[in-house]
Amino acid sequence: MPQKSPFTLDIPQTDVLSYVFPEGKPPSDKPIWIDANNTSNSLSLKQLLYWVTRLGVGLDRLGLKQNEAVLMYSSNHIFVPVLYLGVAGSGRVFTGCNPAYGVNETSFQLENTGAKIVLVEPQFLDVVLQAAQKNNFPKERIYLFSDVRCKEQQGVKDWSTLLGSEQEAQGWKWHRMSARESKTRTAALNYSSGTTGLPKGVMISHENVIANVEQSIFMRNLEQPHTPDKAPAERWLGFLPLYHAYGQLWSITAAAVTETRCFYMRSFNYSEWLSHIQNHKITHIQTAPPVLVMLAKRPETKDYDISSLTNILCGAAPLSKELQNEVSEKCKLKVVQTWGMTEVTCSCLHVPGGMDDRSGSVGYIDPNSEMKLIDDDGKEVGPGERGEIYVRGPNVCLGYWRNEKATKDSFDEDGFLRTGDVAVRDEKGWYWIVDRKKELIKVKGFQVPPAELEAVLLENNDIADAAVVGLQGDHEELPRAYVVLKDAAKGKVSEKQIQDWTAQHVAKHKRLDGGVKFIDEVPKSPSGKIQRKIMRDWAKADAEEM
Ligand code: AMP
Repeated sequence: MPQKSPFTLDIPQTDVLSYVFPEGKPPSDKPIWIDANNTSNSLSLKQLLYWVTRLGVGLDRLGLKQNEAVLMYSSNHIFVPVLYLGVAGSGRVFTGCNPAYGVNETSFQLENTGAKIVLVEPQFLDVVLQAAQKNNFPKERIYLFSDVRCKEQQGVKDWSTLLGSEQEAQGWKWHRMSARESKTRTAALNYSSGTTGLPKGVMISHENVIANVEQSIFMRNLEQPHTPDKAPAERWLGFLPLYHAYGQLWSITAAAVTETRCFYMRSFNYSEWLSHIQNHKITHIQTAPPVLVMLAKRPETKDYDISSLTNILCGAAPLSKELQNEVSEKCKLKVVQTWGMTEVTCSCLHVPGGMDDRSGSVGYIDPNSEMKLIDDDGKEVGPGERGEIYVRGPNVCLGYWRNEKATKDSFDEDGFLRTGDVAVRDEKGWYWIVDRKKELIKVKGFQVPPAELEAVLLENNDIADAAVVGLQGDHEELPRAYVVLKDAAKGKVSEKQIQDWTAQHVAKHKRLDGGVKFIDEVPKSPSGKIQRKIMRDWAKADAEEM
């Protein structure tokens, strides 16, 4: 029997904009999204609504249809929430590119989403223009996107030219969605490779976003006395990238509905991050394990007063209980874990926010959700036994954008999503992640789909075949390639050359930092599928020798 959450929440059945701006509640003018480097640069809910309505008018004027996508290529700044909520709230689809992406990766997302408009932060314009050219994407549909007004560059205008006027905005009303519409309409397309293959657009509905914010806030407030007047005293640091679900959930939507100040960092730098915690008296952060490694190991930690920090929520990759406890003790705070994936909007297992858990658990299941663990024979397993997590709930995505086959393959006959992560559950319903059986590699919390790297490697004229797998380092995985060279290249091409060549073609986190090894043949099944289990054993053996 699938395990059910003991809690049930009444989840608002509407669209994201109506959720953030409920009828009858005037938006406040307290600053919510604040530039961490310049606190006078901020947006309140009232200002957000002002810009959202002007954006809504502008998108209507451009003739953007419902369900068409708008692509953002930008680092974090205070106008990203305007774009995210304005695009989704007006019935369109928000999609964000990782600003570390190169031309090929950007071009793929542009083509795959079929985006009609691109908003790009000026520093990244060259990449976007090249990607647009590859796709024959019209330059007039590209806008510079920043928190300051920009001069036209290379024929590309500032996004203010796309907005409606203040007067036009006064008459603009968004369409408040019915419960049925909120369940079926896509609000965001976040990219993930799922359990296999290339990145795919995960369709996150309005209901998914709202449900997961409600679930996450509920779990966060569990086991701690939560008084509404206490929440606004919290201060969050918005450094998680906003093109990703984790940043969108906390630093945009949860910050909006809890009216919590969120100080935005444009990009991550550890010393700056520490100084922002010190200067802005940050109380809570949401993060991934690499930041905990820094907190525990980097000497700069002791140079800053981070005593305001009381709670860390950690997810996106495995975190050992040793590291979790080291950080808890060293920094005198609570570290609670969460587990999730892009396909569940953000997360669906949480340790209650008020607990001081020392067990390395990722907690228990969120309200309104069900989970089961399935072994390799397809049988459901009970407490103490390992099984793949299958989950069903209002935060589970609609499927993959324009990819019916991948959608079908990802759900079982009862509508449970196959996650590719292996866990063990105890009698009380607490979960521990023990393995990952899908292909995915995670580097610094970012996705590295092996199939994508393999496709890049096969474009190299010296390579006959290749397979990529994660090499387990001290606290993180590194992509490692096993490469079969063409006969003519044998003895002439080095492992380092392959590593360097790959680095030129992919975003930094996808580089082959786990090394390259030449082999005679990639192990494959009779149907031609790479035998990833064998590859993982090779990587394990290689890691032990290193
Ligand atoms: P993403 O879709 O980018 O959020 O990546 C989701 C994947 O990250 C999951 O399927 C897991 O493999 C991994 N992951 C997320 N949270 C955790 C966690 N707390 N512990 C272990 N792995 C995690």
